[in-house]
Amino acid sequence: MALCPRCRYLVEAQAIRCGHCGLILKAYGHPGIPLHRATGDTSLCLTCAYHADDSCTFPQRPLAQTCTIYQSVAAQGSVAPRQSPPSPWGFKQVWPWLGLLGVSVLIVWVVR
Ligand code: SF4
Ligand SMILES: [Zn+2]
Repeated sequence: MALCPRCRYLVEAQAIRCGHCGLILKAYGHPGIPLHRATGDTSLCLTCAYHADDSCTFPQRPLAQTCTIYQSVAAQGSVAPRQSPPSPWGFKQVWPWLGLLGVSVLIVWVVR
């Protein structure tokens, strides 16, 4: 059993529409395709993982009020912050060259 998001009436989990207020609960009349709905005026996209990782190509983005593939960011845990690529001048990138330079200077100093 589930609650109708509009009237809070108890409905069958597989119900295609709410028996009390008639709200469509499943997409395309198929009990296996959930139809996620925004609450209030807030777009679903604002809390959707596909919006967060910029992978959604649905035309209703970013203003979707209903969506069949909505995936809550909260359900997936926090979105990992994107890491910037390492700087070519970071310590890890430069120290091998400094080591090579040091060995070269040592060889020149020993040879002369
Ligand atoms: S999958 Fe749906 S809710 Fe998510 S960003 Fe795309 S349109 Fe919005
Ligand atoms: Zn209802």
